[in-house]
Amino acid sequence: MFKIIILFAILSRIVVSIKLYRSMRVIKNAGDLYGNVIINQYDEIPIPKEDELLLKMKCCGVCHTDLHLIDSITPPNHSVGHEGVGEIIQISAKDKSGLKVGDIVGVPWHYSSCGNCEYCIKGYEPLCINRLSTGLDVPGALQDFMVAKSTHVVKKPDKLTNEEFAPFLCAGVTTYKALKECELIAGQRCGIVGAAGGLGSYAIQYAQAMGFIPIAIDLQHKLGFCKKLGAETVAINDLNTIRNSCHALIILAPSLSAYNESIDLVKRNGKIVFVSLPNGKFECDQSKVIFNHLTLKGSIVGTREDMKEALEFANRGLVKSYIETDTFDNVANVFQKLRNNEIMGRIVVNF
Ligand SMILES: [Zn+2]
Ligand SMILES: [Zn+2]
Repeated sequence: MFKIIILFAILSRIVVSIKLYRSMRVIKNAGDLYGNVIINQYDEIPIPKEDELLLKMKCCGVCHTDLHLIDSITPPNHSVGHEGVGEIIQISAKDKSGLKVGDIVGVPWHYSSCGNCEYCIKGYEPLCINRLSTGLDVPGALQDFMVAKSTHVVKKPDKLTNEEFAPFLCAGVTTYKALKECELIAGQRCGIVGAAGGLGSYAIQYAQAMGFIPIAIDLQHKLGFCKKLGAETVAINDLNTIRNSCHALIILAPSLSAYNESIDLVKRNGKIVFVSLPNGKFECDQSKVIFNHLTLKGSIVGTREDMKEALEFANRGLVKSYIETDTFDNVANVFQKLRNNEIMGRIVVNF
Protein backbone atom coordinates (compact mmCIF):
# COMPACT_ATOMS: atom_id res chain seq x y z
CA MET A 1 0.00 0.00 0.00
CA PHE A 2 2.81 2.37 0.99
CA LYS A 3 4.59 1.66 -2.33
CA ILE A 4 1.40 2.48 -4.26
CA ILE A 5 1.09 5.84 -2.48
CA ILE A 6 4.74 6.69 -3.26
CA LEU A 7 4.24 5.65 -6.90
CA PHE A 8 1.08 7.77 -7.14
CA ALA A 9 2.92 10.78 -5.67
CA ILE A 10 5.78 10.43 -8.17
CA LEU A 11 3.38 10.04 -11.11
CA SER A 12 1.30 13.06 -10.16
CA ARG A 13 4.49 15.10 -9.79
CA ILE A 14 5.55 14.10 -13.31
CA VAL A 15 2.11 15.07 -14.67
CA VAL A 16 2.29 18.48 -12.95
CA SER A 17 5.84 19.00 -14.29
CA ILE A 18 4.77 18.17 -17.85
CA LYS A 19 1.78 20.49 -17.47
CA LEU A 20 4.00 23.32 -16.18
CA TYR A 21 6.50 22.69 -19.00
CA ARG A 22 3.70 23.08 -21.56
CA SER A 23 2.03 25.97 -19.76
CA MET A 24 2.23 29.73 -20.03
CA ARG A 25 0.89 32.89 -18.46
CA VAL A 26 -2.20 34.42 -20.11
CA ILE A 27 -4.49 37.18 -18.97
CA LYS A 28 -8.11 36.54 -18.27
CA ASN A 29 -10.91 38.93 -17.62
CA ALA A 30 -11.87 38.46 -14.02
CA GLY A 31 -15.53 38.45 -15.01
CA ASP A 32 -16.41 40.80 -12.19
CA LEU A 33 -17.92 43.50 -14.47
CA TYR A 34 -15.22 45.94 -13.38
CA GLY A 35 -12.91 44.98 -16.22
CA ASN A 36 -10.23 43.68 -13.88
CA VAL A 37 -7.73 41.25 -15.31
CA ILE A 38 -5.95 38.39 -13.63
CA ILE A 39 -2.97 36.38 -14.78
CA ASN A 40 -3.55 32.66 -15.16
CA GLN A 41 -0.35 30.63 -15.23
CA TYR A 42 -1.63 27.31 -16.42
CA ASP A 43 -2.92 27.74 -19.95
CA GLU A 44 -1.43 25.34 -22.47
CA ILE A 45 1.02 26.64 -25.06
CA PRO A 46 -0.85 26.72 -28.40
CA ILE A 47 0.11 24.37 -31.21
CA PRO A 48 0.57 26.09 -34.59
CA LYS A 49 -1.18 24.84 -37.74
CA GLU A 50 0.73 24.53 -41.00
CA ASP A 51 0.29 28.18 -42.03
CA GLU A 52 1.03 29.47 -38.54
CA LEU A 53 4.13 30.38 -36.54
CA LEU A 54 4.70 29.81 -32.85
CA LEU A 55 6.10 32.90 -31.18
CA LYS A 56 7.76 33.35 -27.79
CA MET A 57 6.56 36.82 -26.87
CA LYS A 58 9.11 39.49 -25.97
CA CYS A 59 6.88 42.50 -25.36
CA CYS A 60 3.46 43.96 -26.17
CA GLY A 61 2.12 47.50 -26.37
CA VAL A 62 -1.14 48.08 -24.50
CA CYS A 63 -3.80 49.93 -26.48
CA HIS A 64 -7.00 51.70 -25.46
CA THR A 65 -8.91 49.18 -27.61
CA ASP A 66 -7.66 46.39 -25.31
CA LEU A 67 -9.15 48.29 -22.39
CA HIS A 68 -12.36 48.89 -24.37
CA LEU A 69 -12.63 45.11 -24.95
CA ILE A 70 -11.88 44.19 -21.34
CA ASP A 71 -14.33 46.74 -19.98
CA SER A 72 -17.10 45.80 -22.44
CA ILE A 73 -20.24 43.87 -21.49
CA THR A 74 -19.00 40.82 -23.41
CA PRO A 75 -15.20 40.74 -22.98
CA PRO A 76 -13.29 38.09 -24.96
CA ASN A 77 -12.55 34.91 -23.00
CA HIS A 78 -8.91 34.96 -24.08
CA SER A 79 -5.96 37.36 -23.92
CA VAL A 80 -6.20 40.74 -25.62
CA GLY A 81 -3.12 42.56 -26.96
CA HIS A 82 -2.45 43.47 -30.60
CA GLU A 83 0.96 45.12 -30.50
CA GLY A 84 2.89 41.95 -29.71
CA VAL A 85 6.52 41.35 -30.65
CA GLY A 86 7.89 37.81 -30.45
CA GLU A 87 10.63 35.48 -31.60
CA ILE A 88 9.73 32.71 -34.03
CA ILE A 89 10.42 29.39 -32.31
CA GLN A 90 8.50 27.12 -34.68
CA ILE A 91 7.67 27.40 -38.39
CA SER A 92 6.43 24.85 -40.91
CA ALA A 93 9.05 23.41 -43.29
CA LYS A 94 6.54 24.15 -46.08
CA ASP A 95 6.24 27.85 -45.19
CA LYS A 96 6.95 30.15 -48.14
CA SER A 97 7.13 33.50 -46.31
CA GLY A 98 10.93 33.56 -46.10
CA LEU A 99 10.76 33.88 -42.31
CA LYS A 100 12.86 31.61 -40.14
CA VAL A 101 13.30 30.47 -36.54
CA GLY A 102 14.93 33.27 -34.53
CA ASP A 103 13.38 36.14 -36.54
CA ILE A 104 11.66 38.83 -34.50
CA VAL A 105 8.19 39.67 -35.82
CA GLY A 106 5.18 41.73 -34.75
CA VAL A 107 1.54 40.63 -34.68
CA PRO A 108 -0.76 43.54 -35.54
CA TRP A 109 -4.52 43.99 -35.01
CA HIS A 110 -5.09 42.76 -38.56
CA TYR A 111 -4.47 39.08 -37.77
CA SER A 112 -5.58 37.65 -41.11
CA SER A 113 -7.72 38.27 -44.18
CA CYS A 114 -8.91 35.89 -46.88
CA GLY A 115 -7.42 37.54 -49.97
CA ASN A 116 -10.45 36.53 -52.03
CA CYS A 117 -13.43 38.67 -51.01
CA GLU A 118 -14.35 41.91 -52.82
CA TYR A 119 -12.67 44.05 -50.12
CA CYS A 120 -9.41 42.13 -50.21
CA ILE A 121 -9.34 42.22 -54.01
CA LYS A 122 -9.96 45.99 -54.04
CA GLY A 123 -7.12 46.62 -51.58
CA TYR A 124 -9.18 47.11 -48.40
CA GLU A 125 -8.01 43.99 -46.59
CA PRO A 126 -8.75 45.34 -43.07
CA LEU A 127 -12.43 45.30 -44.19
CA CYS A 128 -12.26 41.66 -45.33
CA ILE A 129 -15.54 39.89 -44.62
CA ASN A 130 -13.55 36.91 -43.28
CA ARG A 131 -11.03 38.97 -41.33
CA LEU A 132 -9.80 37.97 -37.90
CA SER A 133 -8.61 40.58 -35.41
CA THR A 134 -5.88 39.84 -32.87
CA GLY A 135 -7.13 39.75 -29.30
CA LEU A 136 -10.76 39.94 -30.43
CA ASP A 137 -11.46 36.96 -32.70
CA VAL A 138 -8.30 35.03 -31.77
CA PRO A 139 -6.12 35.11 -28.64
CA GLY A 140 -3.98 38.22 -28.45
CA ALA A 141 -0.35 38.87 -27.58
CA LEU A 142 -0.63 39.41 -23.82
CA GLN A 143 0.49 35.85 -23.11
CA ASP A 144 3.88 34.12 -23.09
CA PHE A 145 3.42 32.28 -26.40
CA MET A 146 1.05 32.82 -29.33
CA VAL A 147 0.41 31.56 -32.82
CA ALA A 148 0.21 33.93 -35.80
CA LYS A 149 -0.10 33.76 -39.59
CA SER A 150 3.24 33.91 -41.38
CA THR A 151 1.50 35.87 -44.17
CA HIS A 152 0.36 38.64 -41.81
CA VAL A 153 3.14 39.10 -39.24
CA VAL A 154 5.55 42.00 -39.71
CA LYS A 155 9.32 41.62 -39.52
CA LYS A 156 11.00 44.01 -37.08
CA PRO A 157 12.89 46.83 -38.85
CA ASP A 158 16.63 46.69 -38.12
CA LYS A 159 16.91 50.08 -36.47
CA LEU A 160 14.13 49.65 -33.88
CA THR A 161 14.29 47.84 -30.55
CA ASN A 162 11.51 45.37 -29.73
CA GLU A 163 9.85 47.92 -27.43
CA GLU A 164 10.10 50.73 -30.00
CA PHE A 165 8.66 48.46 -32.70
CA ALA A 166 5.61 47.23 -30.73
CA PRO A 167 3.43 50.39 -30.83
CA PHE A 168 3.84 50.78 -34.59
CA LEU A 169 1.76 47.60 -34.98
CA CYS A 170 -1.40 49.49 -33.99
CA ALA A 171 -0.80 53.10 -32.88
CA GLY A 172 1.74 53.83 -35.63
CA VAL A 173 -0.03 52.28 -38.60
CA THR A 174 -3.46 53.49 -37.44
CA THR A 175 -2.43 57.14 -37.26
CA TYR A 176 -0.45 56.93 -40.49
CA LYS A 177 -3.50 55.48 -42.27
CA ALA A 178 -5.85 58.06 -40.73
CA LEU A 179 -3.57 60.85 -41.98
CA LYS A 180 -3.56 59.32 -45.47
CA GLU A 181 -7.37 59.29 -45.32
CA CYS A 182 -7.31 63.07 -44.70
CA GLU A 183 -6.08 63.50 -48.31
CA LEU A 184 -4.14 66.63 -47.41
CA ILE A 185 -1.35 68.25 -49.37
CA ALA A 186 1.89 69.60 -47.88
CA GLY A 187 1.41 72.81 -45.92
CA GLN A 188 -2.20 72.15 -44.90
CA ARG A 189 -3.33 72.11 -41.27
CA CYS A 190 -4.36 68.88 -39.59
CA GLY A 191 -6.06 69.01 -36.19
CA ILE A 192 -5.27 66.05 -33.94
CA VAL A 193 -7.79 65.64 -31.12
CA GLY A 194 -6.29 63.63 -28.25
CA ALA A 195 -2.78 64.45 -29.42
CA ALA A 196 -1.05 63.55 -26.13
CA GLY A 197 -2.41 60.00 -25.97
CA GLY A 198 -0.96 56.72 -27.20
CA LEU A 199 -1.71 57.46 -30.85
CA GLY A 200 -1.20 61.22 -30.72
CA SER A 201 2.60 61.26 -30.55
CA TYR A 202 2.69 59.18 -33.76
CA ALA A 203 0.08 61.40 -35.44
CA ILE A 204 2.09 64.56 -34.70
CA GLN A 205 5.30 63.06 -36.06
CA TYR A 206 3.71 61.46 -39.15
CA ALA A 207 1.86 64.69 -39.96
CA GLN A 208 5.14 66.59 -39.93
CA ALA A 209 6.99 63.90 -41.89
CA MET A 210 4.23 64.02 -44.51
CA GLY A 211 4.53 67.82 -44.76
CA PHE A 212 1.33 68.80 -42.92
CA ILE A 213 1.05 71.27 -40.03
CA PRO A 214 -0.06 69.33 -36.89
CA ILE A 215 -2.40 71.18 -34.53
CA ALA A 216 -2.35 69.25 -31.25
CA ILE A 217 -5.62 69.48 -29.31
CA ASP A 218 -5.75 68.09 -25.77
CA LEU A 219 -6.02 69.05 -22.10
CA GLN A 220 -3.87 72.07 -21.22
CA HIS A 221 -1.55 70.17 -18.87
CA LYS A 222 -0.70 67.58 -21.53
CA LEU A 223 0.22 70.00 -24.29
CA GLY A 224 3.89 70.49 -23.32
CA PHE A 225 4.66 67.02 -24.65
CA CYS A 226 2.96 67.83 -28.00
CA LYS A 227 4.82 71.14 -28.29
CA LYS A 228 8.14 69.34 -27.74
CA LEU A 229 7.27 67.12 -30.69
CA GLY A 230 6.85 70.25 -32.83
CA ALA A 231 3.07 70.68 -32.96
CA GLU A 232 1.08 73.90 -32.66
CA THR A 233 -1.06 73.38 -29.57
CA VAL A 234 -4.61 74.28 -28.55
CA ALA A 235 -6.21 73.46 -25.20
CA ILE A 236 -9.63 71.81 -25.26
CA ASN A 237 -11.19 74.84 -23.54
CA ASP A 238 -9.76 77.21 -26.19
CA LEU A 239 -11.35 75.53 -29.19
CA ASN A 240 -12.95 78.83 -30.26
CA THR A 241 -9.52 79.96 -31.43
CA ILE A 242 -9.37 77.30 -34.14
CA ARG A 243 -12.96 77.17 -35.38
CA ASN A 244 -13.11 76.59 -39.16
CA SER A 245 -9.32 76.53 -39.41
CA CYS A 246 -8.20 72.93 -40.01
CA HIS A 247 -8.18 71.41 -43.47
CA ALA A 248 -8.72 68.05 -41.81
CA LEU A 249 -9.17 66.64 -38.33
CA ILE A 250 -8.44 63.23 -36.88
CA ILE A 251 -10.11 62.21 -33.64
CA LEU A 252 -8.00 59.97 -31.44
CA ALA A 253 -9.54 60.84 -28.05
CA PRO A 254 -12.19 58.38 -26.82
CA SER A 255 -14.48 61.32 -26.05
CA LEU A 256 -17.98 61.83 -27.37
CA SER A 257 -17.72 65.62 -27.01
CA ALA A 258 -14.68 65.55 -29.35
CA TYR A 259 -16.92 63.91 -31.95
CA ASN A 260 -19.76 66.34 -31.35
CA GLU A 261 -17.53 69.41 -31.72
CA SER A 262 -15.50 68.20 -34.66
CA ILE A 263 -17.58 69.65 -37.48
CA ASP A 264 -17.08 73.19 -36.14
CA LEU A 265 -13.28 72.93 -36.29
CA VAL A 266 -12.69 72.07 -39.94
CA LYS A 267 -12.70 74.43 -42.88
CA ARG A 268 -15.27 74.16 -45.66
CA ASN A 269 -14.65 71.08 -47.78
CA GLY A 270 -12.76 69.61 -44.78
CA LYS A 271 -12.42 65.97 -43.81
CA ILE A 272 -12.92 64.45 -40.37
CA VAL A 273 -11.48 61.02 -39.70
CA PHE A 274 -12.85 59.08 -36.72
CA VAL A 275 -10.44 56.67 -35.05
CA SER A 276 -11.23 56.42 -31.32
CA LEU A 277 -14.09 54.46 -29.78
CA PRO A 278 -15.97 56.53 -27.20
CA ASN A 279 -19.04 55.00 -25.59
CA GLY A 280 -22.37 56.30 -26.87
CA LYS A 281 -23.47 57.83 -30.18
CA PHE A 282 -22.41 61.18 -31.54
CA GLU A 283 -24.78 63.84 -32.87
CA CYS A 284 -24.10 66.25 -35.66
CA ASP A 285 -25.89 69.01 -37.50
CA GLN A 286 -26.28 67.50 -40.96
CA SER A 287 -26.98 70.91 -42.50
CA LYS A 288 -23.39 71.94 -41.64
CA VAL A 289 -22.10 68.76 -43.24
CA ILE A 290 -24.06 69.50 -46.42
CA PHE A 291 -23.58 73.28 -46.73
CA ASN A 292 -19.86 73.09 -45.80
CA HIS A 293 -19.34 70.04 -48.01
CA LEU A 294 -17.70 68.05 -45.23
CA THR A 295 -16.54 64.45 -45.40
CA LEU A 296 -16.89 62.29 -42.27
CA LYS A 297 -15.14 58.95 -42.43
CA GLY A 298 -13.93 56.17 -40.17
CA SER A 299 -10.51 54.57 -40.38
CA ILE A 300 -9.35 51.27 -38.92
CA VAL A 301 -5.68 50.23 -38.82
CA GLY A 302 -4.23 49.82 -42.33
CA THR A 303 -3.28 47.28 -44.96
CA ARG A 304 -0.01 45.36 -44.91
CA GLU A 305 1.27 47.84 -47.48
CA ASP A 306 0.31 50.77 -45.18
CA MET A 307 2.26 48.99 -42.43
CA LYS A 308 5.36 48.78 -44.64
CA GLU A 309 5.11 52.49 -45.46
CA ALA A 310 4.55 53.45 -41.82
CA LEU A 311 7.60 51.44 -40.70
CA GLU A 312 9.77 52.95 -43.43
CA PHE A 313 9.29 56.37 -41.76
CA ALA A 314 10.39 54.79 -38.47
CA ASN A 315 13.39 53.02 -39.93
CA ARG A 316 14.53 56.34 -41.45
CA GLY A 317 14.31 57.95 -38.00
CA LEU A 318 11.47 60.32 -38.95
CA VAL A 319 8.97 58.89 -36.46
CA LYS A 320 9.97 57.63 -33.01
CA SER A 321 8.22 55.73 -30.23
CA TYR A 322 7.81 57.54 -26.92
CA ILE A 323 7.17 54.70 -24.52
CA GLU A 324 6.97 53.77 -20.89
CA THR A 325 7.75 50.16 -20.06
CA ASP A 326 6.38 47.83 -17.40
CA THR A 327 6.26 44.09 -16.82
CA PHE A 328 3.65 41.56 -17.87
CA ASP A 329 3.13 40.56 -14.23
CA ASN A 330 1.99 44.14 -13.57
CA VAL A 331 -0.46 44.24 -16.47
CA ALA A 332 -3.56 44.71 -14.27
CA ASN A 333 -2.05 47.96 -12.94
CA VAL A 334 -1.18 49.03 -16.47
CA PHE A 335 -4.85 48.70 -17.44
CA GLN A 336 -5.84 50.66 -14.35
CA LYS A 337 -3.42 53.47 -15.30
CA LEU A 338 -4.91 53.51 -18.79
CA ARG A 339 -8.41 53.70 -17.29
CA ASN A 340 -7.31 56.65 -15.14
CA ASN A 341 -5.81 58.42 -18.17
CA GLU A 342 -2.39 58.49 -16.45
CA ILE A 343 -0.23 57.37 -19.38
CA MET A 344 1.52 59.78 -21.75
CA GLY A 345 2.55 58.20 -25.04
CA ARG A 346 2.45 54.41 -25.17
CA ILE A 347 3.06 51.73 -22.53
CA VAL A 348 4.79 48.48 -23.47
CA VAL A 349 4.98 45.46 -21.18
CA ASN A 350 7.97 43.11 -21.25
CA PHE A 351 7.66 39.36 -20.68
ZN1 LIG B 1 -4.85 49.29 -30.89
ZN1 LIG C 1 -11.18 39.03 -47.72
